[in-house]
Amino acid sequence: MNVLKFGGSSVATPARIRSVIEIIKPYLHEKKCAVVFSAFGGVTDILISLSLSALAGKIEYKDQLQALETRHLDAVRELIGIQKQSSIIAQVKFIFNELEDVLHGVYLVKERTPRTQDYIMSFGERLSAYIIAEALNDRGVKAEFLDARTVIRTDNNFGNARIDFAVTNKLIQDHFATHSILQVITGFIGSSASGETTTIGRSGSDYTAAIFAGALNASSLEIWTDVDGMMTADPRKVKKAFTVKEMTYEEAMELSHFGAKVIFPATMQPAMVNRIPIWIKNTFNPTFEGTVISEKSNGKNLIIKGISSMDKISLLSVQGSGLVGVVGVSMRLFGTLAKENISVILISQASSEHSICFAIEGAKTRHAKEAIEKEFLYEIRNQEMDHVKVEENLSIVAIVGENMKHNPGTSGRMFSALGRSGINVNAIAQGSSELNISAVVHEQDIAKALNVLHEAFFLSDRKVLNIFLVGTGLIGNSLLAMIQKQFEALAKQNHLEVQVVGIANSKKMLFNEDGLTLETAVNQMKESGEEMNLNAFFGNMIAMNLSNSIFVDCTSSEVVTEFYESILSSNISIVTPNKKANSGTYQKYQTLKSAAFKRGVKFLYETNVGAGLPVINTLNDLLISGDKVIGIEAVLSGTLNYIFSSYKAGDEFSDVVKQAKEKGYTEPDPRDDLNGMDVARKVLILSRESGLPFELEDIQVENLVPENCRGEMSVEEFFKKLETHNALFEKLRAEAESRNEKLRYMAVLRDGKTKIRLGSVNDKHPFYSLSGSDNIILLTTERYHDRPMVIRGPGAGAEVTAAGVFADIIRIGNYANG
Ligand code: ADP
Ligand code: ASP
Ligand code: MG
Repeated sequence: MNVLKFGGSSVATPARIRSVIEIIKPYLHEKKCAVVFSAFGGVTDILISLSLSALAGKIEYKDQLQALETRHLDAVRELIGIQKQSSIIAQVKFIFNELEDVLHGVYLVKERTPRTQDYIMSFGERLSAYIIAEALNDRGVKAEFLDARTVIRTDNNFGNARIDFAVTNKLIQDHFATHSILQVITGFIGSSASGETTTIGRSGSDYTAAIFAGALNASSLEIWTDVDGMMTADPRKVKKAFTVKEMTYEEAMELSHFGAKVIFPATMQPAMVNRIPIWIKNTFNPTFEGTVISEKSNGKNLIIKGISSMDKISLLSVQGSGLVGVVGVSMRLFGTLAKENISVILISQASSEHSICFAIEGAKTRHAKEAIEKEFLYEIRNQEMDHVKVEENLSIVAIVGENMKHNPGTSGRMFSALGRSGINVNAIAQGSSELNISAVVHEQDIAKALNVLHEAFFLSDRKVLNIFLVGTGLIGNSLLAMIQKQFEALAKQNHLEVQVVGIANSKKMLFNEDGLTLETAVNQMKESGEEMNLNAFFGNMIAMNLSNSIFVDCTSSEVVTEFYESILSSNISIVTPNKKANSGTYQKYQTLKSAAFKRGVKFLYETNVGAGLPVINTLNDLLISGDKVIGIEAVLSGTLNYIFSSYKAGDEFSDVVKQAKEKGYTEPDPRDDLNGMDVARKVLILSRESGLPFELEDIQVENLVPENCRGEMSVEEFFKKLETHNALFEKLRAEAESRNEKLRYMAVLRDGKTKIRLGSVNDKHPFYSLSGSDNIILLTTERYHDRPMVIRGPGAGAEVTAAGVFADIIRIGNYANG
């Protein structure tokens, strides 16, 4: 005998019911089976809402009821041939009349007892199983509707009735002894000794199926649902979740206790007692093997089997001197809760016994607090105990697996993963069986918690990086193109999935938690994005609370950098070519470094100096390995290098600058290059990276903008005035040439001082042959003493800069998961 159960999602529409019938058919040829059905998807919730409307005196409940009736009648019309339809329609209408009567009663007397509520909820399963039984018959599968109230005997605890197994098993066995054709059974419902309808807990159809399987000593119990089995996490919350092929009853029970909705925890009990394997199968993918839950499980390679979560939790704590060493406090506390029918989800007690803290369902918070304070009235009055402390809007996340026992460090891995993502843990509990470790976190952190834990424990999977990009100019755009182009390769070779979840320019912004489509993202942002506002952008970025978030600043704005500290403090890494933050005050530079360090996130800015050239990383690598910087000489302005390397005899200096501007090598106002400030900022960053606590004023800069060309004036005016200085520049050039030297605008850091000036170098010097807009950096260190290390190449341009930014992003992705 096989017992099959189909959940609400498997029978939500007539089309789905037809596929369920196709799944059932082959079983009939092989061996006997019985099938249990839930109400059509969502119907139990509708029944609850109907009864609430009626209770509140809202006559609209009648429209809702009408819609529900139509849904069921439509199902009959779609599933059953025309000849038989009318009698079945009449029966369904008859059942709905009964429901209408009871709802009308609730509406009139404005009272709805738990008993009435159970009766109302029972209609969902009674209707679905009846209609499906008839549909089976209509398709040539001989079947009989079985109202489980006739065989499942429970107590009177409405809403959560307990099974009387002795009576139930006997009734089921007797029924099956006399009914040999396929039984189509209502899930979820039973009846008490006095014949009242009861329900056995939300999602209880799984339990119904297990009760039948146990009573009939079935060879297997199959739970058919809408996912590929029991997965490593809820696939709606963790996209990377995958099916676990085998697990033990204990593991499945633990996972479902903490919210893995696939199977109702109590289901395990009758199956376990009778050692019946439980299969979790997908109605929408019937050939897939799914998960088998049994006494033993292999899967030694998995330290944990799954991660689950429960929302709407409150944490209550009682504490006080009166609790220390007093026997029986816990008993009174938990006894009170049990008396009030409040179940405790998790308990954690400090070893000092000074406080006990436990989690309960959020809806029961007030009830629990009042009951406990009543029980401990005397202690509270005498100040031996404080008032019950309550923390609300929490969630529980639990990792589950039997192999934890054999793997020390599991909890370390769990809490460091949570910590690194900035998730605060309010309470921790570990089952003594070492089967689960659970943590209470804030509700808004739960999606992130599930994802980072999934990443930390199921390493084989890909890691997702979530990028927020501000600035979609040349660099930003090249970066987007690169991410798009490399997507597949990174996923395959580096197990990294780089998705861009937010972009903005100065006018508009656009977000998509599932990743924007990169080809069209910028246009889409321009057309349909919201108006850009930095506060809103960062507020949203932090509220989205995604794991591995990276903020990429491709602007050159100072205002954006003012948000860096709070971004890093929200556990979001930053990658940027924007120099403004690191060349602001030394204190700001330090603050950002330590904010990143404290939060275990990264602040990477390789492209602040020399665009994509590996300058800052190289310098850091040298210093980390114990080397010391003796001096740095560098040409760091692509623009100025272009100007001085193309300036030849016969040229007018002002024309050379003008041409550079026309070719797009300079800033819109070329004085922003000629004043040397851009170079000064780069040198300042290099000095700071080498350990010198410099401010911008400590850098001596030769300003190449002649005195009378400074201040307010248009660019045309500036060029006019610059012409009057051509002779001076020509003199410098000619003198250098006469010594066989070339002019270079260079920075020198030596003996704790930094100077930037226009000088000349001879053909022995590495700067001599520097051409175009290249940069060059000579690092003289204790190790690279006689011949300096040379880093040279294109030091400007959107492509190379974007590549450097991209490399920093991947560097963050490659940091170990821990
Ligand atoms: P049914 O209608 O078949 O009873 P449920 O909605 O009760 O189905 O349960 C199936 C749902 O359980 C899935 O759609 C999934 O979102 C959720 N779920 C939660 N945790 C897990 C998990 N670890 N593995 C698979 N599904 C899970
Ligand atoms: N229909 C019931 C519910 O929604 C029982 C079940 O589906 O398992 O809770
Ligand atoms: Mg279910």
